[in-house]
Formats: sequence, structure tokens, C-alpha cells
Amino acid sequence: MVTNTKSKTSKNVKKVLNPLTTEMEFSGMTGALAISLGLPILIVILNQMIRPDYYITGVFENFNIKEVLFGGEIKSLKEYLCNSKETWVYYLIWFFALAVLDVGLPGKTMNGIQLRDGTYLSYKINGVAISTFLIIVLAYRFKLTNGAMPELQYLYNNHLEICIVTILFSFFLSCTVYFMSFVPLLFSKKNGFKTKEKILALGGNSRNVIYDWFIGRELNPRAGPLDIKLFCELRPGMLLWLLINLAALHHVWIKTGVLNNALLLINILQGFYIFDGVLNEEGCLTMMDITTDGFGFMLAFGDLSLVPFTYCLQARYLSCNVIELENWQLGLITFVMMLGYYIFHSSNQQKSDFRQGKLPHMKSIQTQRATKLLCDGWWAKSQHINYFGDWLISLSWCLTTWNTNALTYYYSLYFATLLLHRQQRDEHKCREKYGKSWEEYEKQVPYKIIPYVY
Ligand code: NDP
Repeated sequence: MVTNTKSKTSKNVKKVLNPLTTEMEFSGMTGALAISLGLPILIVILNQMIRPDYYITGVFENFNIKEVLFGGEIKSLKEYLCNSKETWVYYLIWFFALAVLDVGLPGKTMNGIQLRDGTYLSYKINGVAISTFLIIVLAYRFKLTNGAMPELQYLYNNHLEICIVTILFSFFLSCTVYFMSFVPLLFSKKNGFKTKEKILALGGNSRNVIYDWFIGRELNPRAGPLDIKLFCELRPGMLLWLLINLAALHHVWIKTGVLNNALLLINILQGFYIFDGVLNEEGCLTMMDITTDGFGFMLAFGDLSLVPFTYCLQARYLSCNVIELENWQLGLITFVMMLGYYIFHSSNQQKSDFRQGKLPHMKSIQTQRATKLLCDGWWAKSQHINYFGDWLISLSWCLTTWNTNALTYYYSLYFATLLLHRQQRDEHKCREKYGKSWEEYEKQVPYKIIPYVY
């Protein structure tokens, strides 16, 4: 009898805490499979088109399919799995050393948003300590090696191999977190309903293995004190991107003895953006990726491979095809970046201040959910004015390659697609969450991203 009541309670908890996912994104399993195969191939192809011995010029004027598919250092998948030991070791050291630093370095502890079981997860916020540590190590290595920095040279010379290793690693990591999502909470840990059930992502519990593995089954997978999702979002991929850029600048400096201005600019602009993300990590705690999405192949691959190996394409290109920018070009690019950053940063800040009750005088719509929707200031201009700012930033990075080729502009195009998809997902979420209040908000703020355009 007692067992019967217990199992009924556990079933009820399951239903309330982790309802079955009925609506699938990306056309379900087919889309998940297509993206999981297609995007890794795309990244490899993009990096094959920008390498020291062959790079695209103009509008794909010298495109050569043989070079792209079989040229350069490309090897078989088996080789990357079994015979790339050195790169695997270096990458694993990088990943796990950052994980140890993430847990060990000092920082303040903050709660995330309230979870579905009424509890809160705490996060260690130590981006400042990690960034400082990395800068000290780099400066120390520079001094010790008289500027030779063999680790940066290794990174530059083994770019494709490292890229493929990160893709394979994100595959293994997403399989591990998928399997771990079936293991109940360990030791004395219990959820807010006092059961051992883990909290799954609302969108990742469809019972379709491929789809759930891709989209992410568990909402917040953790390894002891390490929050795997936030860690991957901010540390190994973002900081690797910074190092790849530095390696490109360093490569040209070693070869020519000169700090090329276009390369220096992209390093400064992207370095600023990376540190801004790493240092303002509190902001991430309220982002969709952390609050709503599960951690599966989509995020693992996005954070660990796609970010470092596609966001670095401008710097890689400029190291293969070195160009010198004129002062007015440097000024224009910096202006576009600063304008984008101003819109991106001040609009995100305004929403965050408003949500914390710091801007009570601003016009807003009271929803049935106790929260208010701001429709004043930046948030009267469009529903996602912050995305517009972010997109301008992406454009400024592409402009550093000026008119040398069309390929590096891929990033702005890709980012526009990502932001458009994100805006549609968010709109769907808000419409369901806020109902009539959202309709009222849409009437008052009709534009979605770019004021007077879309
Ligand atoms: P938003 O910061 O726009 O947040 C959307 C959420 O904010 C909504 O779900 C809703 O949440 C709340 N909200 C929406 N409108 C209002 C309003 N008028 N007033 C008050 N609250 C509102 O989106 P993201 O979390 O997607 O993005 C955050 C930042 O990260 C953006 O600047 C984006 O550009 C950037 N980003 C960068 C990426 C990159 O690769 N560089 C990738 C993705 C994002 P609630 O349920 O709380 O009401």
C-alpha cells in the first residue's frame, strides 16, 4: 500500500515537473539529424576555404571543390579519432583545466532564476578571476619564450585538427549528459518536491532519443559543483576563440615582424566582446539558453566548436591574406562596433534594471503573470532592439576584411539567421506565457528587431 502511494506520488511529480514534450522544433528528429550532420560539415568546409595555402578571394572567384574537400591537412575521421593523440591531450587539458579553475578560483555566488520545483541553483561568478589568470599565463609565456609562444603556433598550425577534435568532443559530451539525464539525483540531493527526479528541459523530453539528445534532455546538468551548461557557454569555446585570434596575429607578427593593423583591430574588437561576455556572466543567468534550453548536442557543439571555429574566420582570413586598412576604414569599423555595442549593452541593461524595479517611472504593461513588459526607452523602438545592436557588432567584424572576399561576411548572415530564429522562438514563448498582454505589447511595439524595417 505504502509502495503504491509512493509510486503514484512519483508519477504525479514526473507529470508536473517533467511533462512530455509534444511540440518539436527544427522539424523534429529529421531536422535534428540534418543539423547534427550538416553544421559540423559546414564548419570544416568554411575552415578549408580559409587556410594559409588556399583561401577564397572575391565572390568565390577561385573556388575549387577539390581544394575544399581534399586539400590541406584534411584526414579521415578515423585518423582524428585514433591518431590525433597530441591534439586530444592538449584539448582535454584545456577543457578540464578550465573546469578546475571555474570551480576553484574565487568569485561571488549567485542564484539563477527560480526553477519549476520552486528551488534555485547557485552559480559561481568568477569570470574576472579566470580572465586575469589567463592574461597572466599568456604574458608569462610570452616573456619566457621571448615571444615565440609555441602554444599559439601549435594552435595556428593545427587549426583544422583542433576544430575536428572539438566537434568530436562535443558529440561525446552530449552523449554523456544525455545518459546522465536518466540517472536520478545522487547522494542526499533531492528536488523541491523531495524526490530524486532531475529537472528536464520542457522542450527536451519527447522520448525521441535523437531529438532529445540533440536539443538537450536535462535542463541543468552538473558535475559536482560545475554547471556544465554555463561553463561551456562562457569558458572553453569563448576563450579558445580569443586564443585563435591571438594566434593569427602572432603568426603574422612572427612572419613579418609587424603588427598588422586589420588583424590588431579584429583582435581588439572581438577581445572586447569576449571579455565583456565573460565578465558580465550574471547576465547569462537570465538568458534563454540557461533558463529554458536543455544541454544537448546543439548547445555543446555551438559553444565548443561553432563559436571558436566560425567566429574566428575574419582573423584567420586576415592572417592568410594580410591587408592594411586606412585610418578612415579603421575609424568607420570602430564606429559601427561602438554603435552596436551601445545599443546592445544599454538596452540589455535597461531591461535588467527595469526587471529589478530600478526604473519604476518607465511606461510598461502589467501582465497577468506579476511581471511587467517594458514599452519605453529602447524597448519602445523594437521588441528585440538588443539583437539589432548585436548584429551591428557582427557586421563591424566582417568589415575588417573589407572587400577582399565575400566568405567572411558569412558570419553576419549566419548571425542574422540565428537572431531571427531566436526572436521567433521567444515570440512563441511570450505569446503563450503572456496571452492578451503580449498582444497589447505587440500593438504598442510593432517592430520585431529593426525599427521601421522588421
Ligand atoms: P532577450 O534579452 O531579448 O530576452 C527575451 C526575454 O526577455 C523574453 O523571453 C522575456 O522573458 C523578456 N522580455 C521580452 N520583452 C520584454 C520587455 N519588453 N520587457 C521586459 N521583459 C521582456 O533575449 P535573449 O535572452 O535571447 O538574448 C540576450 C542577449 O544575448 C541579446 O542581446 C542577444 O543579442 C545576445 N545573444 C548573443 C548570442 C551570440 O552568439 N553572440 C547568441 C544569443 C543571444 P520573461 O519570460 O522574463 O518575461
